[in-house]
Amino acid sequence: MRLRVPHAALAAPAVLAASTLLAGCAGSTAGPDTSANRPTVVAAFYPLAYAAEQVAGDSVDVIDLTPPGAEPHDLELTAQQVAQIAEADLVLYVPGFQPAVDEAVAQQAGDRALDVTQGIDMIPGDPHVWLDPLNMATIGNSIADRLGASLPDLADTVDVGARKLSADMSGLSNEWKTGTQSCTIRDLVVSHEAFGYLARAYGFTQVGIAGLSPDSEPSPARLAEVTALVKDRGVTTIYYETLVDPKIAQTVAAETGATTAVLDPLEGLPEGSDGNYVSVMQDNLAQVRTGQACP
Ligand SMILES: [Zn+2]
Repeated sequence: MRLRVPHAALAAPAVLAASTLLAGCAGSTAGPDTSANRPTVVAAFYPLAYAAEQVAGDSVDVIDLTPPGAEPHDLELTAQQVAQIAEADLVLYVPGFQPAVDEAVAQQAGDRALDVTQGIDMIPGDPHVWLDPLNMATIGNSIADRLGASLPDLADTVDVGARKLSADMSGLSNEWKTGTQSCTIRDLVVSHEAFGYLARAYGFTQVGIAGLSPDSEPSPARLAEVTALVKDRGVTTIYYETLVDPKIAQTVAAETGATTAVLDPLEGLPEGSDGNYVSVMQDNLAQVRTGQACP
């Protein structure tokens, strides 16, 4: 086990920040990590970028393909982003989540692609693995294994980073466990079915009004079904999310007398947000504790 934090990789002199602008052109140079040719990790969307940053710190440049405020399911890639995928040392993605990324990865990334769902107990058809913090720890370990193998200079750094991320995610998961143990309402009614992994981890049943994709429209029959369930089960809060229109949640709330609240699926950070994966998950926990009646 390597626990030593090595050399200059973590020092990251600020004067070198300008070189990040050139990162897309740096190619897959695996030489000594002078920051002029720092390795590049391309992440398909925010939680994967967060995991990569936690694992590798300043020893790599992390590029997030999904801009802040954008909804990642239907992301379209620019030619420059496709080139970034072609040149990256490592490309992180969730198969089946973003068709444009799947296609570019298949064509451009070759064996530098990492399907971050490997080692995760998948819910069939549901790509939203990152909403269980323990899955984020698994993702961090996969990133560290791959970076350590392909860039041996970074092996010590990413080993330390993955352990730290794993500890942080265990802590966050324990906050959620403790915070949701006593919730009296166990049906989690959400506009977009992004919370299957979170529901599974903390003993809720997810009830999605729309489907797995946030821009799908529920049928009148589905709306009636969810409305009936909300009344029957005494659900008091319908959750919607930051990056998409709240009208579906508002419709069900208006018909049942429930209120609405924000639950963030962390598919991206809102523009200008100073939050991160942990702070948003803590905000989500606070919303759930109120909305699900957790004394
Ligand atoms: Zn989603």
